[in-house]
Amino acid sequence: MSQADSKRPLEVACPQCRKTVPWTTDHPYRPFCSKRCRLLDLGAWADESHRIAGEPAMDETDIDAWLARADRDGSD
Ligand SMILES: [Zn+2]
Repeated sequence: MSQADSKRPLEVACPQCRKTVPWTTDHPYRPFCSKRCRLLDLGAWADESHRIAGEPAMDETDIDAWLARADRDGSD
């Protein structure tokens, strides 16, 4: 019966820098070690998705165009 073992938090490796991060509420950016690493990773991911050919990115201008079109098509 070792309660100490079960109390040990799960640890994950930060996907950005591979630093070990305890999976606890003390680390709101888990699995990243920090806000910086999370932003770096999201930035890299967004960057990557914009490079996929043929995949229209839904940015604000696209949403405006889409809404304008939907407005026209859905006329009562
Ligand atoms: Zn990190």
